[in-house]
Amino acid sequence: MTHIPGIVITGASGRMGQMLIKTVTDSDHARLVGVVERAGHDWIGQDVGEAMGGQALGVSVTDDPLEAFAQAQAVIDFTAPEATLEFAALAAQARCVHVIGTTGMTDEQIAALEPAARHAVIVRAGNMSLGVNLLVQLTKKVAAALDEDFDIEIIEGHHQHKVDAPSGTALMLGEAAAEGRGVNLTDVSDRGRDGITGARKRGDIGFHAIRGGDIVGEHDVLFAAPGERIVLRHLASDRAIFARGALKAALWGQGKAPGQYDMVDVLGL
Ligand code: NAD
Repeated sequence: MTHIPGIVITGASGRMGQMLIKTVTDSDHARLVGVVERAGHDWIGQDVGEAMGGQALGVSVTDDPLEAFAQAQAVIDFTAPEATLEFAALAAQARCVHVIGTTGMTDEQIAALEPAARHAVIVRAGNMSLGVNLLVQLTKKVAAALDEDFDIEIIEGHHQHKVDAPSGTALMLGEAAAEGRGVNLTDVSDRGRDGITGARKRGDIGFHAIRGGDIVGEHDVLFAAPGERIVLRHLASDRAIFARGALKAALWGQGKAPGQYDMVDVLGL
Protein backbone atom coordinates (compact mmCIF):
# COMPACT_ATOMS: atom_id res chain seq x y z
CA MET A 1 0.00 0.00 0.00
CA THR A 2 1.32 3.45 -0.89
CA HIS A 3 0.26 6.87 0.41
CA ILE A 4 -0.24 8.11 -3.19
CA PRO A 5 -4.03 8.30 -3.65
CA GLY A 6 -5.60 5.72 -5.96
CA ILE A 7 -8.01 7.22 -8.50
CA VAL A 8 -10.91 5.69 -10.46
CA ILE A 9 -12.07 7.38 -13.69
CA THR A 10 -15.68 6.83 -14.78
CA GLY A 11 -16.81 7.27 -18.39
CA ALA A 12 -13.38 5.97 -19.46
CA SER A 13 -13.97 6.11 -23.22
CA GLY A 14 -15.44 9.65 -23.22
CA ARG A 15 -13.66 12.81 -24.37
CA MET A 16 -12.98 13.82 -20.76
CA GLY A 17 -12.54 10.22 -19.53
CA GLN A 18 -9.56 9.64 -21.84
CA MET A 19 -8.02 13.01 -20.96
CA LEU A 20 -8.40 12.22 -17.24
CA ILE A 21 -6.76 8.80 -17.64
CA LYS A 22 -3.79 10.45 -19.35
CA THR A 23 -3.57 13.17 -16.68
CA VAL A 24 -3.64 10.68 -13.80
CA THR A 25 -1.12 8.28 -15.38
CA ASP A 26 1.22 11.23 -16.14
CA SER A 27 1.03 12.47 -12.52
CA ASP A 28 3.53 11.57 -9.77
CA HIS A 29 0.89 12.43 -7.14
CA ALA A 30 -1.83 9.90 -8.06
CA ARG A 31 -2.21 6.29 -9.24
CA LEU A 32 -4.82 5.02 -11.68
CA VAL A 33 -6.47 2.06 -9.88
CA GLY A 34 -9.68 1.61 -11.88
CA VAL A 35 -11.70 2.72 -14.89
CA VAL A 36 -15.44 2.33 -15.31
CA GLU A 37 -17.64 2.32 -18.41
CA ARG A 38 -21.34 1.58 -18.85
CA ALA A 39 -22.44 -2.06 -19.10
CA GLY A 40 -22.35 -3.38 -22.66
CA HIS A 41 -19.60 -0.99 -23.82
CA ASP A 42 -16.95 -2.50 -26.18
CA TRP A 43 -14.12 -1.55 -23.81
CA ILE A 44 -15.36 -3.67 -20.85
CA GLY A 45 -12.70 -6.26 -19.94
CA GLN A 46 -9.98 -4.63 -22.08
CA ASP A 47 -6.81 -3.01 -20.74
CA VAL A 48 -7.65 0.71 -20.84
CA GLY A 49 -4.28 1.76 -22.31
CA GLU A 50 -4.74 -0.65 -25.22
CA ALA A 51 -8.40 0.35 -25.65
CA MET A 52 -7.16 3.96 -26.01
CA GLY A 53 -4.79 2.80 -28.76
CA GLY A 54 -1.54 2.89 -26.73
CA GLN A 55 0.55 0.82 -24.31
CA ALA A 56 -1.10 -1.45 -21.71
CA LEU A 57 -1.58 0.32 -18.36
CA GLY A 58 -2.39 -2.79 -16.32
CA VAL A 59 -5.92 -1.54 -15.51
CA SER A 60 -8.96 -3.26 -17.03
CA VAL A 61 -12.18 -1.43 -17.85
CA THR A 62 -15.03 -2.60 -15.61
CA ASP A 63 -18.79 -2.07 -15.47
CA ASP A 64 -18.81 -2.73 -11.69
CA PRO A 65 -18.28 0.72 -10.08
CA LEU A 66 -18.47 -0.40 -6.44
CA GLU A 67 -15.73 -3.00 -6.91
CA ALA A 68 -13.53 -0.32 -8.52
CA PHE A 69 -14.33 2.37 -5.92
CA ALA A 70 -13.46 -0.03 -3.07
CA GLN A 71 -9.78 0.10 -4.25
CA ALA A 72 -9.67 3.90 -4.50
CA GLN A 73 -9.35 7.11 -2.49
CA ALA A 74 -11.07 9.24 -5.17
CA VAL A 75 -13.43 8.92 -8.12
CA ILE A 76 -13.29 11.45 -10.96
CA ASP A 77 -16.59 11.46 -12.78
CA PHE A 78 -17.38 13.28 -16.05
CA THR A 79 -20.32 11.23 -17.35
CA ALA A 80 -24.07 11.91 -17.34
CA PRO A 81 -26.48 13.05 -14.57
CA GLU A 82 -28.16 9.66 -13.91
CA ALA A 83 -24.82 7.86 -13.77
CA THR A 84 -23.34 10.54 -11.49
CA LEU A 85 -26.17 10.11 -8.96
CA GLU A 86 -25.54 6.35 -8.85
CA PHE A 87 -21.77 6.93 -8.48
CA ALA A 88 -22.33 9.45 -5.64
CA ALA A 89 -24.08 6.81 -3.50
CA LEU A 90 -21.40 4.20 -4.25
CA ALA A 91 -18.47 6.60 -3.70
CA ALA A 92 -19.97 7.55 -0.31
CA GLN A 93 -20.31 3.86 0.56
CA ALA A 94 -16.61 3.36 -0.31
CA ARG A 95 -15.70 6.68 1.50
CA CYS A 96 -14.03 7.99 -1.67
CA VAL A 97 -13.74 11.66 -2.59
CA HIS A 98 -16.17 12.13 -5.51
CA VAL A 99 -15.12 14.80 -8.02
CA ILE A 100 -18.11 15.60 -10.25
CA GLY A 101 -17.54 17.36 -13.57
CA THR A 102 -20.82 16.15 -15.09
CA THR A 103 -23.07 19.04 -16.16
CA GLY A 104 -26.76 19.28 -17.06
CA MET A 105 -27.97 18.08 -13.63
CA THR A 106 -31.41 19.34 -12.58
CA ASP A 107 -31.97 21.07 -9.22
CA GLU A 108 -33.62 17.83 -7.98
CA GLN A 109 -30.59 15.78 -9.04
CA ILE A 110 -28.23 18.22 -7.31
CA ALA A 111 -30.34 18.04 -4.14
CA ALA A 112 -30.21 14.22 -4.32
CA LEU A 113 -26.40 14.39 -3.81
CA GLU A 114 -26.88 15.60 -0.23
CA PRO A 115 -27.22 12.15 1.48
CA ALA A 116 -23.91 11.07 -0.12
CA ALA A 117 -22.23 14.31 1.02
CA ARG A 118 -23.04 13.41 4.64
CA HIS A 119 -20.57 10.53 4.40
CA ALA A 120 -17.97 11.63 1.87
CA VAL A 121 -16.37 14.64 0.23
CA ILE A 122 -18.02 15.78 -3.01
CA VAL A 123 -16.33 18.43 -5.15
CA ARG A 124 -18.66 19.52 -7.96
CA ALA A 125 -18.09 22.28 -10.50
CA GLY A 126 -19.51 23.00 -13.94
CA ASN A 127 -15.98 24.00 -14.91
CA MET A 128 -12.77 22.78 -13.27
CA SER A 129 -10.33 25.21 -14.92
CA LEU A 130 -8.44 27.88 -12.97
CA GLY A 131 -9.20 30.50 -15.65
CA VAL A 132 -12.96 30.02 -15.58
CA ASN A 133 -13.10 30.03 -11.79
CA LEU A 134 -11.22 33.35 -11.83
CA LEU A 135 -13.68 34.59 -14.46
CA VAL A 136 -16.54 33.67 -12.11
CA GLN A 137 -15.01 35.84 -9.37
CA LEU A 138 -14.44 38.72 -11.81
CA THR A 139 -18.03 38.45 -13.08
CA LYS A 140 -19.36 38.72 -9.53
CA LYS A 141 -17.20 41.82 -8.86
CA VAL A 142 -18.08 43.59 -12.12
CA ALA A 143 -21.81 42.86 -11.69
CA ALA A 144 -21.67 44.25 -8.15
CA ALA A 145 -19.94 47.42 -9.37
CA LEU A 146 -22.41 48.18 -12.20
CA ASP A 147 -26.11 48.97 -12.04
CA GLU A 148 -28.92 47.71 -14.29
CA ASP A 149 -28.02 50.25 -16.99
CA PHE A 150 -25.61 47.48 -17.97
CA ASP A 151 -27.43 44.57 -19.62
CA ILE A 152 -25.73 41.23 -18.85
CA GLU A 153 -25.61 38.58 -21.60
CA ILE A 154 -23.71 35.29 -21.40
CA ILE A 155 -22.66 33.79 -24.72
CA GLU A 156 -21.12 30.31 -24.81
CA GLY A 157 -19.80 28.05 -27.57
CA HIS A 158 -19.13 24.29 -27.50
CA HIS A 159 -18.51 21.35 -29.86
CA GLN A 160 -21.29 19.72 -31.88
CA HIS A 161 -21.65 16.72 -29.49
CA LYS A 162 -22.57 18.67 -26.35
CA VAL A 163 -26.02 17.60 -25.11
CA ASP A 164 -26.93 20.29 -22.54
CA ALA A 165 -27.47 24.05 -22.89
CA PRO A 166 -26.73 26.52 -21.45
CA SER A 167 -23.38 25.00 -20.45
CA GLY A 168 -22.65 24.35 -16.79
CA THR A 169 -20.06 27.12 -17.02
CA ALA A 170 -22.55 29.62 -18.45
CA LEU A 171 -24.85 28.84 -15.51
CA MET A 172 -21.98 29.33 -13.04
CA LEU A 173 -21.29 32.73 -14.64
CA GLY A 174 -25.00 33.61 -14.55
CA GLU A 175 -25.18 32.69 -10.86
CA ALA A 176 -22.10 34.84 -10.19
CA ALA A 177 -23.59 37.83 -12.05
CA ALA A 178 -26.90 37.44 -10.20
CA GLU A 179 -25.12 37.14 -6.85
CA GLY A 180 -23.07 40.28 -7.61
CA ARG A 181 -26.31 42.13 -8.35
CA GLY A 182 -28.06 40.71 -5.30
CA VAL A 183 -30.84 39.00 -7.29
CA ASN A 184 -32.01 35.43 -7.79
CA LEU A 185 -30.93 34.00 -11.17
CA THR A 186 -34.21 32.11 -11.67
CA ASP A 187 -36.11 35.44 -11.46
CA VAL A 188 -34.04 37.18 -14.15
CA SER A 189 -32.81 34.40 -16.46
CA ASP A 190 -33.75 34.87 -20.14
CA ARG A 191 -32.69 31.89 -22.24
CA GLY A 192 -32.25 31.69 -26.03
CA ARG A 193 -34.60 34.37 -27.45
CA ASP A 194 -36.58 33.47 -30.56
CA GLY A 195 -39.50 35.18 -32.32
CA ILE A 196 -41.32 38.37 -31.26
CA THR A 197 -39.94 38.46 -27.74
CA GLY A 198 -40.61 42.13 -27.02
CA ALA A 199 -37.91 44.52 -25.84
CA ARG A 200 -35.27 43.30 -23.42
CA LYS A 201 -36.39 43.45 -19.80
CA ARG A 202 -34.19 45.64 -17.59
CA GLY A 203 -32.20 43.51 -15.15
CA ASP A 204 -32.51 40.27 -17.12
CA ILE A 205 -29.48 38.02 -17.59
CA GLY A 206 -29.52 36.51 -21.10
CA PHE A 207 -28.03 33.16 -22.20
CA HIS A 208 -27.08 32.11 -25.75
CA ALA A 209 -25.52 28.83 -26.91
CA ILE A 210 -23.44 28.23 -30.05
CA ARG A 211 -22.80 24.58 -31.02
CA GLY A 212 -20.34 23.55 -33.71
CA GLY A 213 -17.23 21.65 -34.79
CA ASP A 214 -14.66 20.89 -32.12
CA ILE A 215 -14.97 24.04 -29.94
CA VAL A 216 -13.66 22.97 -26.51
CA GLY A 217 -15.45 25.76 -24.60
CA GLU A 218 -15.77 29.55 -25.01
CA HIS A 219 -17.55 31.95 -22.65
CA ASP A 220 -18.20 35.68 -22.90
CA VAL A 221 -19.86 37.72 -20.18
CA LEU A 222 -21.08 40.92 -21.82
CA PHE A 223 -22.03 44.02 -19.83
CA ALA A 224 -23.64 46.40 -22.35
CA ALA A 225 -24.80 49.96 -21.56
CA PRO A 226 -25.64 52.88 -23.84
CA GLY A 227 -22.26 54.07 -25.17
CA GLU A 228 -19.98 51.33 -23.76
CA ARG A 229 -19.49 47.58 -23.37
CA ILE A 230 -17.30 45.38 -21.19
CA VAL A 231 -16.61 41.79 -22.28
CA LEU A 232 -15.03 39.25 -19.93
CA ARG A 233 -13.88 36.24 -21.99
CA HIS A 234 -12.46 32.77 -21.39
CA LEU A 235 -11.33 30.54 -24.26
CA ALA A 236 -10.49 26.88 -23.58
CA SER A 237 -8.40 25.25 -26.30
CA ASP A 238 -7.37 22.05 -24.48
CA ARG A 239 -9.50 19.71 -22.31
CA ALA A 240 -6.38 19.08 -20.19
CA ILE A 241 -7.24 22.23 -18.17
CA PHE A 242 -10.41 20.53 -16.85
CA ALA A 243 -8.61 17.24 -16.16
CA ARG A 244 -5.79 18.98 -14.25
CA GLY A 245 -8.35 20.87 -12.15
CA ALA A 246 -10.28 17.66 -11.44
CA LEU A 247 -7.14 15.83 -10.30
CA LYS A 248 -6.22 18.79 -8.10
CA ALA A 249 -9.72 18.55 -6.54
CA ALA A 250 -9.33 14.79 -5.95
CA LEU A 251 -6.04 15.34 -4.11
CA TRP A 252 -7.30 18.42 -2.20
CA GLY A 253 -10.32 16.44 -0.95
CA GLN A 254 -8.20 13.81 0.84
CA GLY A 255 -8.76 14.10 4.60
CA LYS A 256 -11.35 16.91 4.31
CA ALA A 257 -14.60 16.69 6.31
CA PRO A 258 -17.60 15.19 4.44
CA GLY A 259 -19.66 17.78 2.57
CA GLN A 260 -20.12 19.51 -0.76
CA TYR A 261 -17.35 21.73 -2.10
CA ASP A 262 -16.55 23.49 -5.37
CA MET A 263 -13.45 24.68 -7.25
CA VAL A 264 -13.51 28.03 -5.45
CA ASP A 265 -12.75 26.02 -2.27
CA VAL A 266 -10.10 23.91 -4.02
CA LEU A 267 -8.33 26.87 -5.59
CA GLY A 268 -8.74 29.05 -2.49
CA LEU A 269 -10.15 31.93 -4.57
P1 NAD B 1 -18.68 12.04 -23.63
O1 NAD B 1 -20.03 11.75 -24.17
O2 NAD B 1 -17.49 12.04 -24.56
O3 NAD B 1 -18.34 11.00 -22.45
C1 NAD B 1 -19.26 10.58 -21.47
C2 NAD B 1 -18.85 9.17 -21.08
O4 NAD B 1 -19.64 8.74 -19.96
C3 NAD B 1 -19.08 8.14 -22.21
O5 NAD B 1 -17.91 7.37 -22.36
C4 NAD B 1 -20.24 7.29 -21.67
O6 NAD B 1 -20.21 5.96 -22.13
C5 NAD B 1 -19.97 7.38 -20.17
N1 NAD B 1 -21.12 6.98 -19.35
C6 NAD B 1 -22.42 7.37 -19.47
N2 NAD B 1 -23.18 6.72 -18.57
C7 NAD B 1 -22.34 5.91 -17.87
C8 NAD B 1 -22.52 4.97 -16.81
N3 NAD B 1 -23.71 4.72 -16.30
N4 NAD B 1 -21.43 4.30 -16.34
C9 NAD B 1 -20.20 4.55 -16.84
N5 NAD B 1 -19.97 5.41 -17.86
C10 NAD B 1 -21.02 6.08 -18.36
O7 NAD B 1 -18.79 13.44 -22.88
P2 NAD B 1 -17.61 14.45 -22.42
O8 NAD B 1 -17.40 15.51 -23.44
O9 NAD B 1 -16.45 13.66 -21.93
O10 NAD B 1 -18.35 15.17 -21.18
C11 NAD B 1 -18.85 14.42 -20.08
C12 NAD B 1 -19.50 15.39 -19.08
O11 NAD B 1 -18.51 16.27 -18.53
C13 NAD B 1 -20.57 16.31 -19.71
O12 NAD B 1 -21.60 16.50 -18.75
C14 NAD B 1 -19.80 17.61 -19.95
O13 NAD B 1 -20.63 18.74 -20.02
C15 NAD B 1 -18.93 17.62 -18.72
N6 NAD B 1 -17.73 18.48 -18.79
C16 NAD B 1 -17.45 19.16 -17.66
C17 NAD B 1 -16.30 19.94 -17.58
C18 NAD B 1 -15.95 20.59 -16.28
O14 NAD B 1 -14.88 21.23 -16.17
N7 NAD B 1 -16.78 20.44 -15.23
C19 NAD B 1 -15.44 20.04 -18.70
C20 NAD B 1 -15.76 19.30 -19.86
C21 NAD B 1 -16.92 18.51 -19.88
